[in-house]
Amino acid sequence: MTQTPLEKVLAARESIHAIKHALIQQYKLPVVSMALNIAGWPKTDRQKRKFFFHMLNKLHEHLYANRLPVSPQTARIIDNDNGLTFIACINAPEDSAQIKIISERFEANQVLGRFIDVDVIDESGEIVSSEKQKVCFFCGQYPAIDCMRNQRHTTEELRKFQQNKIQDFLIGNHRKNQSHKLTELTIYALFTEASLHPKPGLVSPFDNGAHNDMDFNTFSRSISALSPIFNQFYLKCLDPNQNLTIEDMRIWGIQAEKKMNAATEGINTHKGAIFLMLLVGKIITDIIKTNESISIQTIKNGLKNYNKHIENDKAQVYEQTHGNIVQKAFPQLKAGIRQQVMDGLPAVFQGGIIPMYTRHFSPQQKIEELSATLKISLLSIMEENIDSNIIHRGGPELLKILQQKAKESKVALLENQNHTYNEFCKWTKNKNLSPGGSADLLALTIFIYLCTINPLLKPYEF
Ligand SMILES: [Zn+2]
Repeated sequence: MTQTPLEKVLAARESIHAIKHALIQQYKLPVVSMALNIAGWPKTDRQKRKFFFHMLNKLHEHLYANRLPVSPQTARIIDNDNGLTFIACINAPEDSAQIKIISERFEANQVLGRFIDVDVIDESGEIVSSEKQKVCFFCGQYPAIDCMRNQRHTTEELRKFQQNKIQDFLIGNHRKNQSHKLTELTIYALFTEASLHPKPGLVSPFDNGAHNDMDFNTFSRSISALSPIFNQFYLKCLDPNQNLTIEDMRIWGIQAEKKMNAATEGINTHKGAIFLMLLVGKIITDIIKTNESISIQTIKNGLKNYNKHIENDKAQVYEQTHGNIVQKAFPQLKAGIRQQVMDGLPAVFQGGIIPMYTRHFSPQQKIEELSATLKISLLSIMEENIDSNIIHRGGPELLKILQQKAKESKVALLENQNHTYNEFCKWTKNKNLSPGGSADLLALTIFIYLCTINPLLKPYEF
């Protein structure tokens, strides 16, 4: 004879009950259990299982923080017709009432605490109850037991409600984790670029390159000041109800520059990097939101949406930056970071990122291996980048010489010879040349590369 769903659930609960009592008999300790409180049948699916394990993780943290040690040899997860159930003895025999209070506080602290049931049985086998009536999660007006007895809501209504809430919760949680990861990768990229040593004309921990107004500490201060801005920005971008306009993004850029200036006493360490990171960061969050994969192609597609904004930006007319001055003097050269973006970041995608893939760059690598790849990546960027700062200093001829030297250094490094590269670093320093735009693009390249390979940044799987 086949069982009805209700009979199956009741039988499953019966067996869970028996397991709890067997544990109490054997260990003479109170038992805590956690299960989901799901209306109707079936009690579980892929999404509810994810939710269960998320909540179980939180419960473990909560019990440990409240110094209620779970006895490891008693802890188990039962998977039956009642869904998943966690059961464990707590190594605190005298504290059943206290365990109940702490468990209720746990339920109350969770956004979806009404979808979980944490039960406590004391060491004599009695269910510990606080006699409190739980409010119906659907209407929030009557006690849950009252709505159930009066059949105030249909099972379909309740199941749909729970399914939507759990899904929103899991997606929201996924987004928060992704935002933290994007921030982590941004900060890693900025620090890794700044830490690379030696570099041609650029600041490293052991050398100020061609700069006399900043050192590595200036970079550390700036990066640290920028980190909260990036996290807030990514969270905002990943919010499904938000779609930042170009003006909104400029405000984030202005605020980030203020933070940088406050930390560096007005020295420009990261203006270019802020522009690139916010722009590409926004594009990457858009890719995540549309549940696509982060790839070179999807980032390039995203860049195209910003071309007209960058091209028509009136700031180019009235801002006397080196980039704008060079753009006016040598329009045919298509120099500068804006043009680089409008061309689809060739210095990154046809330059710096290629050695990262071919040499399997990884933050876990030894520093020598890591540095070798980063140097080759930086030189590949310099070969491609029409750096307006260099043109401003010595015209297109100087840029040609610099690019040629970058190429020769790269060829030598690929043959494991450092001499040409080290001489190139000395030459830029003596000539007082700093390829800062290429340094910004190296940080961006590291960030993009790590985003494309990070498993957490994959679309949410339903
Ligand atoms: Zn109700």
